[in-house]
Amino acid sequence: GELRELLAGRIRDVPDYPEPGVLFKDITPLLADPEAFGALTGVLAGLCRERGATKVVGLEARGFILAAPAAVRAGLGFIPVRKAGKLPGATLSQAYELEYGSAEIEIHAEDLVPDDRVLVIDDVLATGGTAEASLRLIRRTGARVAGVAVLMELSFLPGRARLEAALEGAPLDVV
Ligand code: 5GP
Repeated sequence: GELRELLAGRIRDVPDYPEPGVLFKDITPLLADPEAFGALTGVLAGLCRERGATKVVGLEARGFILAAPAAVRAGLGFIPVRKAGKLPGATLSQAYELEYGSAEIEIHAEDLVPDDRVLVIDDVLATGGTAEASLRLIRRTGARVAGVAVLMELSFLPGRARLEAALEGAPLDVV
């Protein structure tokens, strides 16, 4: 619809970034446009309510930018999932495989409780590895997953397939 066109028109394809052969989806034009960013924030806040979320998790780094205003607008707390070594408190860590090598993400253990239903927000679903690891992390706190919402899915990558099992029936929304 109209919203999708507005958002798609504000995403810039950058060839060969960050390395040759990669077509990078740059969301900074969208962030710079208050109409587009505001509309996206409203849609994400609506999803928070629709999915019955009690907390919103954003994935470092661009997930923070989308999740934080959505959480505020929905009246919910924002919880950062960060790359290893960035959070000062007691954390839970989750390692995961990348195309080359591995990565690790963390959450403050006390930020989620078993009564929570968590909506995870990120900008791009590529291989699905980051989102999958975040779901494991969330479940280890005892909290439940309300869903995953992303702005874009790189459909030439098997992200949705990789995430499918980890979703355990929770919805994946592509805005
Ligand atoms: P995945 O773990 O699904 O392979 O990668 C997803 C993560 O990498 C997301 O946090 C996302 O921000 C980042 N990412 C991967 N490809 C792109 C891209 O083309 N554009 C943007 N903006 N982020 C990307």
